[in-house]
Amino acid sequence: MNMRLCSILLCVASLSFAGQTKTFKYDGLEITVLQDKPTSMPNKIFHGAPVEEINEAVPKGTSPASINAFVVKTPQHTFLIDTGMNTDTLLQNFRNAGLKPEDIDVVLITHMHADHIGGLLRDGKATFPKATLHIAKEEFFYWRQANPNIKQIANAYLKRTELFIYGEDLPIVRAAQSETEKNVGLFRNTKAAKIAQQTDDIFQGRDASGHTPGHTVFESNKLIFFGDLVHSAALQFADPNICAQFDMEMPKAVQSRRKFYDVAAETKKLILGAHLPFPGVGYVLKDEGGHYSFKPLEIKPEDIIEKQNNNDN
Ligand SMILES: [Zn+2]
Repeated sequence: MNMRLCSILLCVASLSFAGQTKTFKYDGLEITVLQDKPTSMPNKIFHGAPVEEINEAVPKGTSPASINAFVVKTPQHTFLIDTGMNTDTLLQNFRNAGLKPEDIDVVLITHMHADHIGGLLRDGKATFPKATLHIAKEEFFYWRQANPNIKQIANAYLKRTELFIYGEDLPIVRAAQSETEKNVGLFRNTKAAKIAQQTDDIFQGRDASGHTPGHTVFESNKLIFFGDLVHSAALQFADPNICAQFDMEMPKAVQSRRKFYDVAAETKKLILGAHLPFPGVGYVLKDEGGHYSFKPLEIKPEDIIEKQNNNDN
């Protein structure tokens, strides 16, 4: 993302939007989608295919999209994946979904663009008082240099930040750890990364770089959080070569997109996308000709969980 767009997003981040939430059961898990706001992606921000192809695929000139964060309750943990544009909206969505900030014990961040980390701080303090914050090491160190404000986040979550290496099992859980051990932990090398063991409770942080230097996909035995692999469902499933201008390194972004389309299609796991139209969940299909498409999840009425609005946080 260029700096101008960054500053627009940061400026917008101080406003509160009215999004929507949805909670549903999925294969033994409880998933809540927290939408900051519906949005749309104009054709002119997409590159990597002839303009005619793009305009033919999206004749209206903009693709419907969204800004989504997700909460997943597994048997052992309550994960929050990304945090949207701003804390006020996120907390309003929490209340609407019957959630409290202290319910979250693990925060996973796909990357550090403003529309994914906007809800991490509340008045300069950690919004999630009990959560451990997980960010890919590459991503954190890149943005710490590029944007000094990022230090605020590290300070707020000082003793509860885990900078993981691609391939590690998340959450990283440390019992009774000394300060020295913690510091060593931050700089352990890739050889120390565990072989991923995907269960309902464990996600593997996987290399999906290209959109940003440390962009991460989180994969469990049932789910794949796609982060920003896709900005236009209408364009980028049919043609994975198409990139949004926010992709910092486009050839690498294309590689990552293709890699995880294949993983999703082969494993038939549910994908959850930060910018897929609300509620942003579904499957990637691949036909015999190698063409991809997206099939939104049909959420059965009996799987939808109606939440009591919770107004005391
Ligand atoms: Zn984004």
